[in-house]
Amino acid sequence: MRTKITLACTECKQRNYDITKEKRKHPERMEIKKYCRFCKRHTLHKETK
Ligand SMILES: [Zn+2]
Repeated sequence: MRTKITLACTECKQRNYDITKEKRKHPERMEIKKYCRFCKRHTLHKETK
């Protein structure tokens, strides 16, 4: 079962990515380095509700 989550940039707080993940495999909040088009560089993105 996959759940929809949103990834937000930790620096500018913009919500840049909508992805799905398997909650059973990753019950914790995900933190991924991704490109932020507002910061114009790679930043840490965290899962939001
Ligand atoms: Zn950003």
